[in-house]
Formats: sequence, structure tokens, C-alpha cells
Amino acid sequence: MIFFLACVLSKHPVDTVTAPAAAPVADWAVWLATPGPVTVESWVSARWDAKLGSLLDLSDAACAGLPNAKVDIVLPVHVMRHPEKGDFLVDSGVPASMREGPGPVKGLIRAALGSFEVVEPVGEGMAKRGIVPRALFLTHAHFDHVLGLPELPVELDVYTGPGELRQTGQVAVLMASTARGVLDGRPTVHEWSTTEMKPLGPVLAIDVVGDGSIYAISSPGHTPGSMAYLARTAAGPVLFAGDTSHTLYGWEKGATPGNFTADHDTNLQSLRALKALAEGVPGMKVWVGHEMDGQGTGVASLPAR
Ligand SMILES: [Zn+2]
Repeated sequence: MIFFLACVLSKHPVDTVTAPAAAPVADWAVWLATPGPVTVESWVSARWDAKLGSLLDLSDAACAGLPNAKVDIVLPVHVMRHPEKGDFLVDSGVPASMREGPGPVKGLIRAALGSFEVVEPVGEGMAKRGIVPRALFLTHAHFDHVLGLPELPVELDVYTGPGELRQTGQVAVLMASTARGVLDGRPTVHEWSTTEMKPLGPVLAIDVVGDGSIYAISSPGHTPGSMAYLARTAAGPVLFAGDTSHTLYGWEKGATPGNFTADHDTNLQSLRALKALAEGVPGMKVWVGHEMDGQGTGVASLPAR
């Protein structure tokens, strides 16, 4: 039986709440470099464009000279496939209904969807790959990361970061109506528990299935409850950084995301911690929030750095 460690927001219980076997954190880099049982698949669910100022903090010295132009970005879906524990989605992509209109997008955010193009809805992507999700792990609850929920079973366990669904502030309010629309009425929405997080090198993480193969990593800042996820695969560890960095440019330069970020200083601390994690394990594959290999790399095409 699988277990999860979470504060249950709904009235329905999780399977069990059992402390996992402690990961060998003293040798975290050696442990993470050890081949693991998880396989990972990723696909682009949608593409659109966004102002660079929403993707990067243009006031950061590392971004000097970058224009606030519209650039292409993508919305990926990832799945971590554990041979015994099942398939775990990282973020939800988009539903097929968005081919015809705004789908579950509500409020002022609809105006930002002008160039939005559905590539592979989450339901079609899962069917094609034989994915049967055991749970959905959200990196955060901004609108573009929860849109696919209407295509996922209503009883599916959904996990998000501590405090993520109780955000306040202007951006949170802007995003909240879409998130509420897709999350309300779902019986199994949980928050990862900070009290269950343990040091894993430079980050705090939960050993999700108890064998040290999948970790949920605290990465606050972009939103209060932002999370990253890590899987140990046969080819080495794979880190899903979420929107702690939207772009490879931001990841490489250590620059935080732009004007939808709740707390830049905290985001920067989290970004540095994730980078230290990645730098500690040679060959770690890193996925940022809105670029895929060769897709959505609009920032790379910009003139003058
Ligand atoms: Zn995003």
C-alpha cells in the first residue's frame, strides 16, 4: 500500500500516515547518483507566449539588456513512473476543451490566453502512454499548472505545497478563481507536510514512497507553497524545478522569475538551493517550468544579453 505524508484538506482520509524510512541523507549526493527504479516521461501539453517580464525579474543585473518582449513558452506535463507504486503526474497540463475556448480558465487571466495553443491534452497524453495516475503532484497552484484537472479522475489524490491554497495578495487573487474552479469539489486535495520534510543535502524533502526514489522538495518563493520533485531513474536523477525557474536562462544565471512571483528573495534562496542540489550530483537532468528540450526556448532567441 502506498502512503503519503500530508495534511489532509478534505474530509476524506489518506491511506495511511506512516513515517517513511529515512533516506541516507548524510550521503545524499552519492544516494541521488545511484541508479533508481523510476522512469520519467514528459510532453508539451500547450504552448503560448508571455512577456519576458513575467518569466524573468528584469530588474536583476543578470537580466540587464533583455527586452520585455513576448517570447514562446511551453506548458509541460511530466510523469514519474514507479514500477511498484504507480504513476505520479507532475502538474496537470491542459484539457482538450481548451482547443475550443478558455476551458476552465476564469476571470482576468482569460485575457492572457490570446496565443494559447493546445498541443497534447493531458488525457490524450496519458492514454497514448498507458499512464494511470496514482496521484497528481502540483509544483504550485497558479492557473497554468492546474488546468488539466477536469480530465483527471475526481477521486485522484492531488498534492500541493504547504499553504499553497491559502495564498493572499494580488497575484493570488488573480489566479485563485481558476484554481478554485478545478479544485473545489475534489475529495482528495492534500498539502505536503512541512513537519515531515527532512534535509536532503541543501533542500528539505519528503521521501514520497519510502524507498528514496521520489522526493517532494520544498521550494517556496514563486508562491508560498511552491514545490519541486525529484526522481531517481536508471539514467540518473531528474529534477522538476517547477516555476522556481521558468526558463533555462533564469536557471543558469540564478535569476528569479518575473512579476507573478510572490517573494523574490525567498524564490532566490530556493533557486540557489535547487541549483546546489543539481550541482552536487553530476549529470542531474533539470526541467525548468516553461521550457522543454528545444521547445519554448523563446528566451534563447532574444537579442542582446
Ligand atoms: Zn507556470
